[in-house]
Order: sequence, then structure tokens, then C-alpha cells
Amino acid sequence: MTGFRRPSTVAEAVGLLAADAEARALAGGATLVAMMNADLVAPSALVSLAGIAALRRTETLPDGSVRLGAMRRHAENAVMDLAPGPDVVRRAAARIANPVVRNMGTIGGSVAFADPGADYPAALVAAGAAVEIAGPSGDRAVAAEDFFVDWYTTALGPGEIVTGVVLPPGGAGARSAYDKLVRVSGDFAIVSVAAVARLERGAVAGLRVAVGGCGPRPVRVAEAERALLGGGLDGPAAAALGAAIAEAADPPDDVRGSAAYRRRVIPGLVARALAACAAPLEHAA
Ligand SMILES: Cc1cc2nc3c(=O)[nH]c(=O)nc-3n(C[C@H](O)[C@H](O)[C@H](O)COP(=O)(O)OP(=O)(O)OC[C@H]3O[C@@H](n4cnc5c(N)ncnc54)[C@H](O)[C@@H]3O)c2cc1C
Repeated sequence: MTGFRRPSTVAEAVGLLAADAEARALAGGATLVAMMNADLVAPSALVSLAGIAALRRTETLPDGSVRLGAMRRHAENAVMDLAPGPDVVRRAAARIANPVVRNMGTIGGSVAFADPGADYPAALVAAGAAVEIAGPSGDRAVAAEDFFVDWYTTALGPGEIVTGVVLPPGGAGARSAYDKLVRVSGDFAIVSVAAVARLERGAVAGLRVAVGGCGPRPVRVAEAERALLGGGLDGPAAAALGAAIAEAADPPDDVRGSAAYRRRVIPGLVARALAACAAPLEHAA
């Protein structure tokens, strides 16, 4: 296959991609076209997902989960109406790059590319989201935590595409926070933190915290999160959570910061995200 294809169904797109391992799906093009310009990739053909209406849909599922189609732009996600908890994804979308990139890039393209410094991966893990996939062997869903496998590597197999993400409801008392440390406004994260907490009468009834930019995949330490259950979002257990994530992280040494610097700032950013979750809703970052 050569050239530019614009299928109108997911099945057609999967068929085209499965038939040619050198073809690439084209979503917003923010990354793929830049990589082609830089001669980093040379696909045999581009399979545009832009004509597939099903990939642009947003729907609320019977259990209250919200499903976002893969071709939704960051700019749309940054202003969408989501309940507390899953709204961590809105907060992350609003921090991506700048308006130009947010108007081009899609959530499906971002998760499929799996840049460790990207904003969605940690937010999706904190939200307990699932990534929906279509491929030659049918459809499946993978927990975000298992979808991001390694540096720029996901659970996607040959011919498979991301069709959407599903965000479960946060429940009563849910709060979220998203923060990222950057060199300059609009840059990829040196370190990012996404937190989703559920409070019952001021006590922690549920908590998921994920850190991005500090290893091949978002870092989460569930055991240290559990130590906060029944208590507040500050104190020794909260400090221990930040320390445990810093310990579990495998940060890169790169132009954005050294591994030692990244490890050092993780506990402070985690504490800040937890404090934002504890704040009255209108003040949460
Ligand atoms: C200058 C600049 C700054 C940026 N800053 C940030 C930032 O601060 N934070 C951040 O999170 N991101 C940032 N990004 C990344 C950007 O937000 C996009 O998410 C990213 O470019 C990929 O989305 P896309 O829709 O453009 O995908 P494309 O560029 O079209 O595709 C990217 C890759 O994913 C594959 N692909 C695309 N869609 C699918 C799909 N549905 N299923 C399977 N494979 C698919 C393509 O084949 C390709 O390999 C930045 C990008 C640029 C160019």
C-alpha cells in the first residue's frame, strides 16, 4: 500500500494497517508529521483516522463512565464537562503544550505514542481509566496502568489502533489535581503528578496517585496509597507516599533535568497535589 488513505470506519482502518506493517495511522499529525519531516520515520502509507465519525464521539455509559473517542483534540478535552475524579484528564489536557498543539493533537495519538513526558498517561492511570483498542482479532480494553509498557511502547499489537478511553466515575466526594514541573510554559513535563482522591467526612476513602516523566511508564505505588486510607491527605503517610514514588521512579537524565533532580522534586509535587485534593473543590489545582 502507498499514499494517503482516509477510511470512514474503524474496521477499514484496521484492515489497511494490518495489511501493511510499514503503514502508520495518522491522527492529529503533531508528532508523526514532525518525525517524517525530520526523517525519523518513513511510513509506506498514511491511514488518516480523521474521517471516522465513531472516533470523535463522547458518551456516558450506563455505569456512569465517560467514553472519549480517540480523535478528540486536546483543546476539546481541556474544556469538557467531567465530574470530579475523572476531571483529572481535563486538567491534564489543559496543560499540554500550547493552543496550536492542543488544536492538532488527539488523545488517541498521545496515548499511542506514549511519550513518557506526555500529560495524559499519568492522568489516565490516576483516573483508573481503560484504553479501548480495535484490531484484526477484534476489540479489547486494557487498563491504562497496563497499556503503557515501556519507553514509547504500549500494549498495542500489529494492526491495532486506539479507539477511545473510558473514565470511570469518581463517586461521591471525589477530587482531583494535576500539576507539572516544566522549564518553560508549554514544554513537556520534567515531572508531572496526577491525583484522584475520594473523601468521606474528611477521611480518605480512595486514592490513586501517578507520576509522569520519571520513567518508561507512569509510576504508582498502590501500597503506599493504601496507608492514607481512613486518614487525611497530609501527615507522615502522605510524606511516605511521595518518598515511595521517588524510590520506585526510574527517571531519565536528559535535557529537561537530571535523574537526581527529578527524584528530589517528586515528594514536594505529590504533597502539593494531595493538598489541592484536600482543598475546597473550587480551589483544587
Ligand atoms: C511542539 C510540541 C509540543 C508538545 N508538548 C506536549 C506536552 O506538553 N504534553 C503532551 O502531553 N504532549 C505534547 N506534545 C504531543 C502532542 O500533544 C500530541 O499528543 C502528539 O503529537 C500525538 O498526538 P497526534 O494526534 O498529533 O498523533 P500523530 O502525530 O498523528 O500520531 C502519533 C503516533 O501515534 C500513532 N497513532 C495516532 N493515533 C493513533 C490511534 N488512534 N491508534 C494507534 N496509533 C495511533 C501514529 O501512527 C504515530 O505513530 C507536543 C507536541 C509538539 C509537536
